[in-house]
Amino acid sequence: MAIRDILIWPDPRLMKLSKPVELQDGKPPDDVKTLIKDMFLTMYDAEGIGLAAPQLGVLQRVVVLDIRAYEREQADGKVEVPSGETPIALINPVFSEKSGKLEWEEGCLSVPGETGMVTRAAKCRVDYVDVDGLPQFIEAEGLKAVALQHECDHLEGKLFVDYLSPLKKGVIKRKMLRLIERNADEAAE
Ligand SMILES: [Zn+2]
Repeated sequence: MAIRDILIWPDPRLMKLSKPVELQDGKPPDDVKTLIKDMFLTMYDAEGIGLAAPQLGVLQRVVVLDIRAYEREQADGKVEVPSGETPIALINPVFSEKSGKLEWEEGCLSVPGETGMVTRAAKCRVDYVDVDGLPQFIEAEGLKAVALQHECDHLEGKLFVDYLSPLKKGVIKRKMLRLIERNADEAAE
């Protein structure tokens, strides 16, 4: 297990379509199980609430989510672990229902320090396969619904910046290109 590097947008690998995980005898292969462990480690290290495999350069349809930190913040410390559903790992997630509209100021570990308003479905249901290869589903609203849609977008090669105006997207892109350059300079030193 290891913390892996998170790709920074506009890395071209973030704009690619991810492939479905092929189950072997009804189970996810070992490399996918390792990937999921690494995704959780990497997400927690970066203090994120969700992460998709392509953000680590792995073009497979895998997403992890843990919104408990956000829920604790919202509950102002009054509720210890409000959600029984996260942390959750979703393999081959598919939306089977979406309804309503919700605006949320989103951020992304692949676009550090930047946020933007995005309109998503207010409620959704996602069908997926769990780490044991069993079919499951999750019904979500609020941040959980937003996060699921944001993370599943990554599997289509789409990021929240794609919903912003060309002007705002361009400003963020220039900042990220400078950040990528700085990171490369630091790595070379
Ligand atoms: Zn993201």
